[in-house]
Amino acid sequence: MDRQARMKILAKQFGDMKKNPDMKAFFPDKNNPFIWHVSYKGPKDSPFEGGIYHCEINLKQYPDNPVTLQLLHDNGSYHIHESLCIVGLTQLGGQWTPGTSIETIISSLSILMDVPEGRNGIGYIVQTNKEHIALANAKSQRFVCSKCGVDHMTVFK
Ligand SMILES: [Zn+2]
Repeated sequence: MDRQARMKILAKQFGDMKKNPDMKAFFPDKNNPFIWHVSYKGPKDSPFEGGIYHCEINLKQYPDNPVTLQLLHDNGSYHIHESLCIVGLTQLGGQWTPGTSIETIISSLSILMDVPEGRNGIGYIVQTNKEHIALANAKSQRFVCSKCGVDHMTVFK
C-alpha cells in the first residue's frame, strides 16, 4: 500500500476517533503523521477508572502490519517506554487483522490494563499493587506530555 493510501486510512481513523468521548489523538511531530499520541480513559469499574493514560502509537506499518505502542508515564499496569506488542492482546484474537481500527487497539489497551492474565506476551507489571495503581491514577489526571503538549487536566473537559 502506498503512502497516500495509508494517509487516507489514517485520516479516516482520526476522524472516527474524534467521535469517541473516551480517547483523543495528537501529533507529537507535525512532520510525521505516522506517530500518534493518544490519551484514553481508564476502564470503568476498575482501579484505573478516573485515570487518564497517554501512549505513543507507531503507525508506520499500519494497516498491513501490527502497530507498536508505548505508555509514556507510570500507570500501574504496563511498563513505560517499552514497546508493547499489540498482537498479544487477546481482545484482538491473538493475531493481526489489517482491518483493526486504531480505536479498537486503544480500547483493548485500556480494557486489558485490569486484565493482566489476558495479555500474555506484552509488557506489563506482573504484580500490580492497589496503592501504586491509585497513586498512578491520581498522577495521570495531572499529566502533561512534553512531546505533544496535551494537558490531562483539560483534555476531556
Ligand atoms: Zn504526548
